[in-house]
Amino acid sequence: MENRRNFIKTSALAAAAVLTNIPKTKAEEKQQQIKPATVKPIVISTWKFGIGANEEAWKILANNGKALDAVETGVKVIEGNMNERSVGLGGRPDRDGHVTLDACIMDEFANIGSVACLEHIKHPISVARAVMEKTPHVMLVGDGALQFAISQGFTKEKGVVEETQKDWKEWLKTSNYKPQANIENHDTIGMIAMDSNGNFSGACTTSGLAYKMHGRVGDSPIIGAGLYVDNEVGAATATGHGEEVIRIAGCHSVVELMRQGRTPQQACEEAVARIVRITKNRGKNLKDIQVGFIAINQNGQYGAYCVQSGFNFAVYNEVGNNLINSDFYMK
Ligand code: ASP
Repeated sequence: MENRRNFIKTSALAAAAVLTNIPKTKAEEKQQQIKPATVKPIVISTWKFGIGANEEAWKILANNGKALDAVETGVKVIEGNMNERSVGLGGRPDRDGHVTLDACIMDEFANIGSVACLEHIKHPISVARAVMEKTPHVMLVGDGALQFAISQGFTKEKGVVEETQKDWKEWLKTSNYKPQANIENHDTIGMIAMDSNGNFSGACTTSGLAYKMHGRVGDSPIIGAGLYVDNEVGAATATGHGEEVIRIAGCHSVVELMRQGRTPQQACEEAVARIVRITKNRGKNLKDIQVGFIAINQNGQYGAYCVQSGFNFAVYNEVGNNLINSDFYMK
């Protein structure tokens, strides 16, 4: 209780510092970047389901817990919800009827762990954390990831949910594969947090694009694409068409842009602009693509940007847990 009271007090002071400290000139802005009025902790996550995930993460952050524990706990809420059709075992299958899961996690020391194309496991994010903490490697895939999970005491869950079977059989009638923007057949929970010690971590987990080829891996388990954390700078995570995120090493790009002085908002916008340029240069139709980035920095500032309207994200900081519509490129 005492902790929480102190925390509220510190947060309120920090928030007041930010409000009264609005820079008037470029030089002041630079100064503020050097001596930031930090708002912490903060957790932000992709899509509307981020609200529920943030709630659990915040319980840890508000008690001076670690960002790493917060992000793992937060995304597990969504992984464990079998009604969620784009994350965890409730997710839509690949074109062979398998639900294959991708996840990764990264902490403030640049420890990383990842699993891809993992089947039958309820919480891939926790397997990713076990890869990070208990193996000499950073990524395990397919059967190897499953064997490792079982060896670590994770339960092998049976089959896929009934809805999945139904959807898949329906899909087989046309077998038309065309991931569309803002059609609810894919999404990712990406969550990034800064704890009260100013340390960052991130987690990212998904069942990927529905009816993908068996063995397809998206951006979400790839450190630097679907997630990146740098304790000196901040963190970023992504959702949307993974192939496009990988093409620009998306989240690493966002974090590097912040390192060069961009705000989280500017960094997300610039990364999306890169995707837009590349898509046009490749002669592809931008309308078919959706990618959204979210980012936070050491000041506790956040930002988000996406290719086209429809993406939202949840922010939990000292003002509460709020769902925000992301700004977008295709106006
Ligand atoms: N990024 C995920 C993937 O490509 C899907 C999504 O977030 O919509 O697998």
